[in-house]
Amino acid sequence: MHNCPRCNLINIIENKYCFKCSYPLVPEAFDEIKQEEESKIHALMQKHVQELKETTKEKDREIQLLKDDMNAMRDDMKNIFEVLKIAKQNDGRIGKDRTMLDENRRVTLGYVDNNNQIVEVKVPLDGVEIANGGSATE
Ligand SMILES: [Zn+2]
Repeated sequence: MHNCPRCNLINIIENKYCFKCSYPLVPEAFDEIKQEEESKIHALMQKHVQELKETTKEKDREIQLLKDDMNAMRDDMKNIFEVLKIAKQNDGRIGKDRTMLDENRRVTLGYVDNNNQIVEVKVPLDGVEIANGGSATE
């Protein structure tokens, strides 16, 4: 006979758990419950680790996209400085004429962005400071 410590039901000796309230009555029953809890915790931890891995992968992708953007912007800037350098050295002459230089001695630089919008900037040529012979990015 087992006397249930929780509900006081008198159980037959074969019962590992209380017939009425399921309370564990023998050490083996406690071990079973403990093992079940441990495997639940293990499963939760595995799920958590998996979620962290996925989040990390996603963040890595975002960082890579930002790096690509920055490199593209750096290349754009290099090109702009190259054009400005030529414009400055030739007093606004890029090609055969001075169409880039307007009446206020401003150079117009432009490009078409991803939304097909023309983005233009007017740079006063006399305000540009570029060291002779050196690279603009160094
Ligand atoms: Zn009980």
